[in-house]
Amino acid sequence: MNQETNAFAPRPLIELSAVSVQYGGGTIALDRTDLQIEQGEFVALVGPSGCGKSTILKLVAGLLGPTTGGVIVGGREVGTVGTHQRKIGLAFQNPTMLPWLSIRDNVMMPLKIVEPYRQQYRSKRKTEFRDRADALLEQVGLRGFGDKRPWQLSGGMLQRASLCRALIHEPDILLLDEPFGALDQFTREELWDTMQALWIAKRPTVLLVTHDLRESAYLASRICVMSSRPGRIIQDTQVDFARPRTLESSYAPEFGALVHQLRMRIAQARSEGDTKGRDYVDTPARAIEEVTP
Ligand code: ADP
Ligand code: MG
Repeated sequence: MNQETNAFAPRPLIELSAVSVQYGGGTIALDRTDLQIEQGEFVALVGPSGCGKSTILKLVAGLLGPTTGGVIVGGREVGTVGTHQRKIGLAFQNPTMLPWLSIRDNVMMPLKIVEPYRQQYRSKRKTEFRDRADALLEQVGLRGFGDKRPWQLSGGMLQRASLCRALIHEPDILLLDEPFGALDQFTREELWDTMQALWIAKRPTVLLVTHDLRESAYLASRICVMSSRPGRIIQDTQVDFARPRTLESSYAPEFGALVHQLRMRIAQARSEGDTKGRDYVDTPARAIEEVTP
């Protein structure tokens, strides 16, 4: 392909180019970090604590601007809130629901805020929106819980509801920051299936921050490992395991080998700080002999 043709090739949906972020106190969270994500990918970001994973999510969401470098989402430079029109859904570790609203009304909240839905909300489309919320709740196993208040639901149920809230306005991009981190192992694994089914059905572009390496291998189509702060991507691995992935398949040797390799890579990144890992070359998971149960 010549250069001219390349110029018209589709750009990645999300593009961080040489992005540096220095916080007020002087902490350099990211230093010339590059990351490109194509539409429809499910990317997991893993790495040592404090390496800048959440900072990347905030940049993509437009909640934070880079100190230097470029953040482009959907072909537009992202700066501060409101400068780009891409619809984004967010879910965090501890879902904050408004306690005086029903679960359904909490789920519908983005429709009351995000244009063009905001205009439509007050008038004719309200019933349609309510149906949409109920359909999503049913999809995540919360049929019949729309009228309940947040305090009547368990942590796992609230997290399911918060996924619905993140998806209600049909975002192109779903940003998840350790969304299952506060849940017990069984509930977490159930939610992996819920999340996987939602992704297969709607194919949003997902950026998932997690410290659970099994979770990253179960859900992601690509795993990016970050160095210690300032965080850079030091390993970028495609995960080609067949879908839908199941709990059973997560005990296959190649799955264990991938998780083991990721664990080793992060341990190395933690011990060597920020510079040595830059030229790391991805090791195919199947080349790793040892398997973590
Ligand atoms: P991660 O999500 O990988 O744990 P973060 O992106 O939250 O890391 O933070 C990266 C670094 O920046 C950490 O050292 C953190 O303490 C620091 N940091 C994050 N947010 C702020 C802030 N608002 N002000 C100052 N320092 C911050
Ligand atoms: Mg974080």
